[in-house]
Amino acid sequence: MHLVAIGGSDAGISAALRARELDLSTEVTVVVADAYPNFSICGIPYYVSGEVTHWRNLAHRTIADLEATGMELRLDTQARRIDVADHKLLVTGADGTEELLAYDALVVGTGAVSVRPSIDGVTGVGALGADDGVHLLHSMGDTFAVMRTLEESSPASAVIVGAGYIGLEMAEALVTRGLSVTQLEQLPEVLPTVDPELGTLVHKELTDHGVDVRIGTTVKRISLAPLGAVGRLQIDATTASGAVSFVADMVLVVVGVRPDSDLAAAAGAELGIKRAISVDREMHTNLPDVFAAGDCVVTYHRLLGLTYLPLGTTAHKQGRVAGENATGGHREFAGSLGTQVVKVFDMAVSRTGLRDHEAKAAGYDPVTVEFEADDHKAYYPGSHRIRMRYTGDRRSGLLLGVQLFGHRHAEVAKRIDIAAIAIFSGMTVDEISDLDLSYTPPLGSPWDAVQGGAQAWVKSATTNGLR
Ligand SMILES: Cc1cc2nc3c(=O)[nH]c(=O)nc-3n(C[C@H](O)[C@H](O)[C@H](O)COP(=O)(O)OP(=O)(O)OC[C@H]3O[C@@H](n4cnc5c(N)ncnc54)[C@H](O)[C@@H]3O)c2cc1C
Repeated sequence: MHLVAIGGSDAGISAALRARELDLSTEVTVVVADAYPNFSICGIPYYVSGEVTHWRNLAHRTIADLEATGMELRLDTQARRIDVADHKLLVTGADGTEELLAYDALVVGTGAVSVRPSIDGVTGVGALGADDGVHLLHSMGDTFAVMRTLEESSPASAVIVGAGYIGLEMAEALVTRGLSVTQLEQLPEVLPTVDPELGTLVHKELTDHGVDVRIGTTVKRISLAPLGAVGRLQIDATTASGAVSFVADMVLVVVGVRPDSDLAAAAGAELGIKRAISVDREMHTNLPDVFAAGDCVVTYHRLLGLTYLPLGTTAHKQGRVAGENATGGHREFAGSLGTQVVKVFDMAVSRTGLRDHEAKAAGYDPVTVEFEADDHKAYYPGSHRIRMRYTGDRRSGLLLGVQLFGHRHAEVAKRIDIAAIAIFSGMTVDEISDLDLSYTPPLGSPWDAVQGGAQAWVKSATTNGLR
């Protein structure tokens, strides 16, 4: 049995590791386009900031660790064509040599690539690139290019296009390095994955740390600034009140990703939402013995059905399922809830499940209630308030979603995980009060903050006649 995995990031490596773990007689080859298998690209902002002192430290496992499991790594090797009928993969190695790799099962883990928005100067003929100080950010290669700009040109200022979680992490990273940062977001608030009531708190945290945040600002053009300008690049944008321009020494365009599905599609794989590869819950594509996982596939969401929700946590799980099934198993991917957290300077914001409008669109009858509680007993020094938004279904009382904002030491990540487990298990909001959670005054309260939030939802829904 020979399993070939395409892609050496979360999905491909998880599949390879699982296959080797389950059956040591399985030969596993991982084909990786670059030289950085199993790198934690989620950690890139912390390498750029200087908190992670060497890029090699971002490796989840070293090449030697991976090879010690018995897998063969083909680095700097591009998978070019899948011959489904003959079960062969055409690859081009680092020296340009072509080779056909025979497989019994194939796992496609080609991931995602950065969206290149149609901004004049970012796309099209004469588009600016890393050498001009204009960067995208997804791979280790992109990271090295950013670091070259930072180290060789010593930029004093940066414009970040996009205020999603990666944009926010990079704003913090560049401020930490001493740059003056302007963050441009076309939507009405930063971090549009949470409600604007929490987005506005994130916004304040950014401005409190010196980031010049401009919402409702759509970038139209990036060009070389005229000689004598106080920056190397000029960024032209529009707002509701007219045109605005900025100058900066570097620009980071981080406006999301799209699935890298061309290789699979060319072999006949069906595509779904956003051109992500269609897979069932065992991660089968429609092609015989071809599985796919991670940012290149549609995601099964427990409340929404099929969606596209690229996250490292999901890619690991789907890769593991694909690796198990490629070696004869029948495991199902249990589904995502879109659980995520991001640290922005001293604060953190997390979410799981659905927001009000998402729940409505999915056919629920949502009620959303906001509440605040202390992370631990206020009489013990160092307590912090946690702002919570609870969304539950009016008819069934089911918990549908929770969003939390609080100090980075207020455990909003682990608290959102309680909510994620509750939604995963199909609990009602009211049942959260029954959970036996830990308590000691320096770390919690007899009713944990998440239980306080649940009780506020129940009370508000009942008193206001919402249910
Ligand atoms: C800056 C940053 C921060 C992030 N932070 C978080 C976070 O905090 N939490 C979280 O859950 N997620 C986070 N993510 C998202 C997470 O990193 C991705 O969801 C995850 O890496 C997806 O893994 P993947 O294996 O599906 O694809 P990718 O990581 O995109 O990897 C694709 C792999 O396929 C290879 N490849 C592609 N085409 C070919 C080919 N033709 N031949 C050979 N190899 C090929 C690539 O070289 C790469 O090895 C972050 C992402 C970034 C960029």
